[in-house]
Amino acid sequence: MRKLATIRQVAAITAIPNADAIECVTVDGWRVVSKRGEFALGDLCVYFEIDSVLPERQEFEFLRKSSYVNNGKCQGFRLKTMRLRGQISQGLVLPLLSELATSQLGDDVTELLGVTIWEPVIPSELSDIVVGGMPSVIPHTDQERIQNLTADLAVWSQTEMQWEITEKLDGMSMTVFRNQAHVGVCTRNWELSSASGRMWDMARKLDLPAKLTALGRNLALQGELIGRGIRGNYYQLTQPEFRLFDVWDIDAQQYLNSYDRGLLCWDLGVLHCPIISQGVCLDRAATVDQLMARTEGASNLNPARIREGLVYKCITDPSISFKAISNQFLLGEK
Ligand code: AMP
Ligand code: MN
Repeated sequence: MRKLATIRQVAAITAIPNADAIECVTVDGWRVVSKRGEFALGDLCVYFEIDSVLPERQEFEFLRKSSYVNNGKCQGFRLKTMRLRGQISQGLVLPLLSELATSQLGDDVTELLGVTIWEPVIPSELSDIVVGGMPSVIPHTDQERIQNLTADLAVWSQTEMQWEITEKLDGMSMTVFRNQAHVGVCTRNWELSSASGRMWDMARKLDLPAKLTALGRNLALQGELIGRGIRGNYYQLTQPEFRLFDVWDIDAQQYLNSYDRGLLCWDLGVLHCPIISQGVCLDRAATVDQLMARTEGASNLNPARIREGLVYKCITDPSISFKAISNQFLLGEK
């Protein structure tokens, strides 16, 4: 489960020009607008990430006007990226609530505080029939946000680690796998019945069940389903497309490196997510702000669209990766 509420330390406090009631508090790579004077440098605090839904309780009532949601699935105060007085603010930082008195730096207090994740009501387009969970031998597609990796970034930037940067596409996570004799198709969390549905349609259109069976390896192809008929077709494509971003070797329990992934993609006739850069090192002076600034740009799939973000994968160690989501994209989100 994502750690939505964690105990952190105030790393910096900066004034916001022309604002005397608020200031900007930095925790790890996150910047949050906060009530002025609430914190001193080094204070412990509780930080709630964007996408948190906070339960209704007195301490959160000040959020009612800006953030109360109830879509039948989630009820409470939803935190998202905002701009306040020209300042981007992400999430919420508060002094330790009474039940956190004995909590320590790094503690995950998501459950303790009853914080849940924001889930929009899924449109009927995901009405495919589910046959079970994603097999546990395959990892869920997910990426950590660079704002949560400031300490790692400080280390990585001082090394010769080489990175592959791909465009992060905004569609639906889709996995096609072959394990033993079984071929399956999954959303991020569920394995789908082969009876129907656009994910299976796509897998068949690409002839993946037959190709994976012929290959004879236990592999999971992970990618994003985008385009016509998928979640509003952000890139305005005339067709649905499957864009691969990872291949998981089920027997070895590790990702293929980017070279082997590229070859396999080619062999299978599958499109890859746009590759922005291959083999770059991070600047010695890389910061979250610098990476965030580089994230902004047009999509390679449609220059009229802002890209959702970038995903960095370490070429020499494919288990290391992170995402940088465009703040411009987040500000435009409904
Ligand atoms: P999020 O969409 O914020 O939950 O970020 C994680 C998701 O990004 C993964 O589950 C993938 O479905 C998706 N994704 C889209 N493009 C890429 C990419 N180029 N590399 C890795 N993941 C990607
Ligand atoms: Mn996504």
